[in-house]
This record gives sequence, structure tokens and C-alpha cells, in this order.
Amino acid sequence: MSFTDLQLINPLLKAIEEQGYKTPTLVQQKTIPLVLAKKDVITSAQTGTGKTAAFALPILQLLFENQDAPRGGKKIKALIVSPTRELALQIGNNFKAYGRHTNLRATVVFGGTSIEPQIDVLTKGVDILVATPGRLIDLHKQDIISLDQVEILVLDEADLILDMGFIDDMKHIESLCPKQKQILLFSATMPFKVEQLANTILSNPERIEI
Ligand code: AMP
Repeated sequence: MSFTDLQLINPLLKAIEEQGYKTPTLVQQKTIPLVLAKKDVITSAQTGTGKTAAFALPILQLLFENQDAPRGGKKIKALIVSPTRELALQIGNNFKAYGRHTNLRATVVFGGTSIEPQIDVLTKGVDILVATPGRLIDLHKQDIISLDQVEILVLDEADLILDMGFIDDMKHIESLCPKQKQILLFSATMPFKVEQLANTILSNPERIEI
């Protein structure tokens, strides 16, 4: 199977080629069509399987194809919650690389560092926000971001997010987004508490195990 078989659009195919990717990995082959079909998805896959591109590519495509005619100010349409700053940075870099031939803007916010530069970028408007839970909630409390236009919510490394004690933050973040949205949950392991959270917030999810 090739990336073209996955019905990806040219601006993405070009970026994929520039990354040097020849064929989609298994998790990409299975996840990309379901995300493009706007399904909620639970994928259990380890880091290193190509799972970031498995959600980043179809999210970029859905947002690219669903852009309003010229609109004032970009709104956060996709929110990716990640447990750690390192992972958040990696995800952000992937979105920037894969989206380089689109006009979509992605940025990353995390705690433990000055909030002002993050506020500057956010007030200029972004389409895709990658965030750690604590800083995300801070920025929302300060009224810097609104999540009421979020169409796609991703929980990456959900098992780690919950291990780090972010269950209430995660539920809060989900409740700040519109009720009607697509949710993608990625986790290396599927312990009971991840299943429980998935049952609470996802609707009729498709399941993929790698
Ligand atoms: P991830 O599991 O998302 O952390 O990705 C692991 C590594 O695989 C990253 O360095 C990606 O750049 C790389 N990668 C992702 N998809 C592909 C692909 N289809 N072909 C080759 N490398 C890939």
C-alpha cells in the first residue's frame, strides 16, 4: 500500500516524499482512513510505530479541506494533548513538517517555561495546538485561548497522561471543547482507567491494535 492509496492530498504527499517516507506503516494504513472518515478511534500502538503521522496527516487533510473562505483570525480546530513537553515538541514538529505545503499553522505549549512567548504566538491565531494539560488549562483560564471551535481532539499516550495524574484535567479539557467533535485516543497500553476514560468521552470508537 502507498500513501497515494490512502487518498492523501498532494500538499501532504509532497511533504511525505520530502520526509523520505516510502510506504505507510501499519498503524498509518489502519488509522488514516478511519480518521478521514471522521470516526472516533482508539489505537493501541507504541512510540516508534509511526503513530504521530497516523493522526497528524489525516487531521491536516480534514482541516485543509474544510477551511472557511477567508476568515478573520485562525481558531483552534485541532487540539492534541500530550503528557510531556518532549513529546509535545516532537508532535508539533511533525505537524509543521507534514503541513509545510498547506497554510495551516501549528504551535506547541507546555509548562515549566515562560508563558508570554506562547501567548504571543497564540494571539496571532493557530489552527492546530499541541499542549500539555496544565499549561493548556492555564491559558484557557487566562482567556488566551478558546476551545469552542475544536473539531478534533487527540489524546496521545493516554496511559501516560493518566499515570501522571491528569484524569480530572483531561475530563475538564474535553468539557471545554464542543460536544460534537471527533476524538482520537492513542495509548501504548490499555489499562482499565484508559478504557474507562475512553468509554466516557468517545462515541462508538473504532479500535486498532498494532
Ligand atoms: P512515531 O511513532 O510517531 O514517534 O514515529 C517514529 C519515527 O518514524 C519518526 O521518526 C517518524 O519520522 C518516522 N516515520 C513515521 N512514518 C514513517 C513512514 N511511513 N516511513 C518511514 N518513517 C516514518
